Amino acid sequence: MSDAIPASDTRAAAGAFEAAHGVTQHVDVAVVGAGFAGLYLLHRLRKAGFSVVGMDEADDVGGTWYWNRYPGARCDIQTVDYSYSFDPELERDWTWSEKYATQPEILRYLGFVADRYDLRRDIRFGTKVIAANWDDATARWLLTTSNGANVSCRYYIMATGCLSAPKPPEIDGVKDFKGEVYFTSRWPHQGVDLKGKRVAVIGTGSSGIQSIPIIAEQAAHLTVFQRTPNFALPAHNGQVPAERAAQLQQDRATFREQARWSMAGVPLPPATELSFQLSDAERRARFEKLWAAGDLVGMLTQLWADQATDPEANALLAELFREKIRSIVRDPETAEALCPNDHPFGSKRPCLDTNYYATFNRPNVTLVNLRKEPITAITPSGIKTGQRSIDVDVIVLATGFDAMTGAITAVHPITGRSGKSLTELWAHGPQTYLGLTVAGFPNLFLITGPGSPSVLSNMAVSIEQHVDWVVDRLIELRAAGFTTVEATETAQAGWARHMADCATLTLHRLANTWYTGANVPGKPQGVMPYTGGVGPYRSICNEIASKGMLGFRLTGPTVAEQCNDGEVVRLQPDVRLVLNMLAQMNLPPIESMGAQGARDFIAEFNKSRPAGRPVGEVKDGTLTGADGPLPYRLYRPATPGPHGIVVYFHGGGWVLGDEQSDDPFCRDLCRRSGLIFVSVGYRHAPEHRFPAAAEDGLAATRWVAEHASELGSRPGPLMVAGWSAGANIAAVTCQLARDRGGPEIAGQLLVCPVTDCRFDRPSYSDNAAGYFLTRSLMFWFWDIYCSPADRSDPRVSPLRGKLAGLPPAYVVTCEFDPLRDEGIAYAEALQKAGVAVEQLQARGHFHSSFPMVDVVLTSASGRAQMANALRRFAGLGQDNQSQRSDPTTFNAAAE
Ligand SMILES: Cc1cc2nc3c(=O)[nH]c(=O)nc-3n(C[C@H](O)[C@H](O)[C@H](O)COP(=O)(O)OP(=O)(O)OC[C@H]3O[C@@H](n4cnc5c(N)ncnc54)[C@H](O)[C@@H]3O)c2cc1C
Repeated sequence: MSDAIPASDTRAAAGAFEAAHGVTQHVDVAVVGAGFAGLYLLHRLRKAGFSVVGMDEADDVGGTWYWNRYPGARCDIQTVDYSYSFDPELERDWTWSEKYATQPEILRYLGFVADRYDLRRDIRFGTKVIAANWDDATARWLLTTSNGANVSCRYYIMATGCLSAPKPPEIDGVKDFKGEVYFTSRWPHQGVDLKGKRVAVIGTGSSGIQSIPIIAEQAAHLTVFQRTPNFALPAHNGQVPAERAAQLQQDRATFREQARWSMAGVPLPPATELSFQLSDAERRARFEKLWAAGDLVGMLTQLWADQATDPEANALLAELFREKIRSIVRDPETAEALCPNDHPFGSKRPCLDTNYYATFNRPNVTLVNLRKEPITAITPSGIKTGQRSIDVDVIVLATGFDAMTGAITAVHPITGRSGKSLTELWAHGPQTYLGLTVAGFPNLFLITGPGSPSVLSNMAVSIEQHVDWVVDRLIELRAAGFTTVEATETAQAGWARHMADCATLTLHRLANTWYTGANVPGKPQGVMPYTGGVGPYRSICNEIASKGMLGFRLTGPTVAEQCNDGEVVRLQPDVRLVLNMLAQMNLPPIESMGAQGARDFIAEFNKSRPAGRPVGEVKDGTLTGADGPLPYRLYRPATPGPHGIVVYFHGGGWVLGDEQSDDPFCRDLCRRSGLIFVSVGYRHAPEHRFPAAAEDGLAATRWVAEHASELGSRPGPLMVAGWSAGANIAAVTCQLARDRGGPEIAGQLLVCPVTDCRFDRPSYSDNAAGYFLTRSLMFWFWDIYCSPADRSDPRVSPLRGKLAGLPPAYVVTCEFDPLRDEGIAYAEALQKAGVAVEQLQARGHFHSSFPMVDVVLTSASGRAQMANALRRFAGLGQDNQSQRSDPTTFNAAAE
């Protein structure tokens, strides 16, 4: 032990004696819970030289697998994945007998682990922690226990489980029932004989779905009470699949490492094709393959890339499930009642089953649909619904858990620095930093707390990561002489924002589930687990450590306080992924490639992006530019015409790109706005320097205006739009059209526009590097397009032009873009000049966020807002269609 730890912390050896004699037990670390998390914590902490005591209400190790002994209890992540990976020798010495192990086998495994590392000797079983108080004076926690000595500890780690606090039944009268009542989560150790009995199962979550087929085989009659039908697929249990076993045997280390950096904690590459890129037959074939494989994680992640983010893509999958249910269950009314249709697949935990749906074909099984006939009471003889009374001998409550927060707030009070309890502070929902720590509660750690990937991942992988991160930090703090560590409010608020950004990408927010707290009456609702993925979460945790414990305040008796305050993730989650991916590619700077090299590179790069979504028609043609013909590509909506028309200018710094290079963006805006887009292949530098592109902009707009009806447009003014240098051309076109006699332009959409040749605004230095469009790349573009003498010409710096009398504008800027401030400056100057302007300042986005359709999904709502702005310019109403497949609620308002 280091000198920085008071001597009292080293008294662990005396702990057992103290515990037995009711004296307060002093340790460095108290670990509550002896499941997967608690066991690994004990092992690591002891190895690191901390004195430690474990406590569990249960009489032995196992946690979840100690308590949940109901018939059919199994894991639903393949057991080769759902195992510890910290010790290769442990892995070698244990072989799982089945693809999805039973509860007894998993419990045996955890017992084997406890024995191997001699963990039980430091665990006080049958001991519940009932309260915890932080003492600022001694910088220690005092834990009150239900049994034996209280515990004084420097660090208090709650490994109390996400699914360990059973939810009480919401129905009156359970205590009046004269028969037997069992919770699946507290199943008697000696088992229950259900032979010949009339049994009721209430609840059809994982536990219900696993136990119902087995109970049906034993009971004289089984009545299943279902409120929410759930998606379930057959486990097809058996031996560990040969392919997976071989993969693991060949290179265990790589297999485990891939799991650690994956999204769900299972080494599977993400699906790449989007639903609309696959035919019906291809989608069905993928679904059938995973159905036959009995692979839950596969079904959740491997079908198509947008299955978990796009409601329409998800609906395709949900319908395939319903087809299966209808094909298995013979009675059409029962089949329909079993079909889930109130939540997207994956937004509530889907289940793995063995003969679940077929069980409803048995003559001794009845389904009661609580949506049609809710339970009104439990009577001495059975269960009463709005329509009937059903007499039973046994009631099985498979009613689930007060998930994620239940076991934490059951310890009450947990009083932190302010004297306020955690329950009070979480009255409107849990607040944490990383799901691991809470501001105001120094030295408290939660393993798989709300805000960590936890239940949305293979928890064995998440638990190991949490434990390693926490213990590694404790070792470092001890070495540096710190004795307290506490999350800051700034970091915690930033994490809440990041959590919300991640959650808008998924469909979890569209379902009322235990992920959101909706299963417990009165519980505040919000998506509680971190939805950003296991790998990204790991990299964030690593980043915090590498930045000197970003977002934590550290103190110690002999060292100066340290606080590197701040938010760890300010980028939108998908922007962060894209930028990390680009960084890993280690690309040479675009400006080092030469103009043609850069064009070839961008063309190649664009080949790997998701294809744009279908529109009514895509047609190529030629129009007349300022100095000869120019190519264009027209996108026509699938809706009946005539439509309004938008002249679009692509991005690429006046050097790169062409009329097809912003294809997905044009398609998306065309679909959302219901307007024709004509993307113009204007001339590029260095072959054609300033003002060629600007003059082409006006000429092309004139040509489109003159040929509008031939192109299928309705009469009336058109709109212009563009991104980046294309937005520069759109802005300039509006000025030139005003000054040179038309055409009439009804509105301008400027997305991340270049507006000025001044490079000293803060965004040019704040975002100089690291966000793909760099300052040096912008300088290169400017140098190629325009000599210094020409740069203040309004045809390239429209901010320097006359702004009065311009068409209304919708100006979009991104937080992490060198061009941000000149875009905002242009919007403000337009407004000052009396032009109607709306702004969208996109928080956490980078220069390419909006054109990266189906990659940066958090930008979808921004595009919906752009489409609506174009419709307003065109004199059309807001189109609900533009919002239809939005995966996000946009967080773009200026902050
Ligand atoms: C039926 C079922 C199947 C599951 N299948 C999977 C799966 O396939 N894959 C997967 O990744 N996850 C699965 N899970 C989630 C499972 O909970 C985790 O995988 C994992 O077992 C959690 O380990 P833990 O140590 O964090 O918590 P737990 O195993 O829940 O252990 C927490 C322990 O803390 C104790 N405790 C709580 N509060 C106190 C207190 N105040 N004082 C003293 N002791 C306390 C409890 O008694 C419990 O023993 C499943 C959960 C259930 C219920």
